[in-house]
Amino acid sequence: MNEQRPEILIVEGQLICPTCGANEFSFREEHTVSCPHDVGEIVNGALQIEADYEHSPFGDVGTGENPFLECQECDEIFQIPAGLKLEFVDRL
Ligand SMILES: [Zn+2]
Repeated sequence: MNEQRPEILIVEGQLICPTCGANEFSFREEHTVSCPHDVGEIVNGALQIEADYEHSPFGDVGTGENPFLECQECDEIFQIPAGLKLEFVDRL
């Protein structure tokens, strides 16, 4: 843990950026990407692999590593405040 990084404030149930005071954040996390792709024939010595970019290459939200919050105002990133639960919903 980085001791020098300020923590997000929670004021009256709202997240507040300690750097700029904004209250809008993005949820971010890291995914190790390992998606299966269909393998086709070898054409002119090159194995044909279907890219399938539409099939989420980053995995489902909430399944990644090192989740963090990013302030949408100043782009600072912060750890998830201790004790704050995360719930993933279809729509806000
Ligand atoms: Zn900020």
